[in-house]
Amino acid sequence: MARNPIQFQSGLSLPAFLEQYGTETQCRAALFQHRWPKGFVCPDCGNTTGCMLARGVYQCHHCHHQTSLTAGTIFHATHLPLTTWFLAIYLLTQRKTGLSALQLSRELGVSYNTAWKLKHKLLQVMLERNQGEALEGRIEIDDAYLGGERSGKPGRGAEHKFPFVAAVQTDEEGH
Ligand SMILES: [Zn+2]
Repeated sequence: MARNPIQFQSGLSLPAFLEQYGTETQCRAALFQHRWPKGFVCPDCGNTTGCMLARGVYQCHHCHHQTSLTAGTIFHATHLPLTTWFLAIYLLTQRKTGLSALQLSRELGVSYNTAWKLKHKLLQVMLERNQGEALEGRIEIDDAYLGGERSGKPGRGAEHKFPFVAAVQTDEEGH
């Protein structure tokens, strides 16, 4: 099962974010802490001693199983630096309004296709994480259409668009 991305405090400013997660070393340390909060644990035999063979690659001292820091996470087999992933998570979670794949590609300095894949992978993980939680209290519901970014007629009847119903839980101030 995909693991949750690193959780950032809400309202974290961009400079504060960059100070904490601006380098690959910082991102790796955060991921290590998230994956192995009590120190390295071999995913194969459960042994807790191992060593780092290369950047982000660990070997168990007991069974010699090798694992990477990103194995079993959404960052696995990525060609992108963790800093790009972390910044994408930051940008997608700190805004009240949505962020298009095009905007994301510009802000991250990656191609549109890369930004599109990043965004959808991250949104999928967020969706899976939220699926177990029931809404309560004030709930607002609206219908909308998703997709059709690249082709099709504009408007609600456009091809390649999926109708969906969105429900959100809001507080007294509408947040
Ligand atoms: Zn082992």
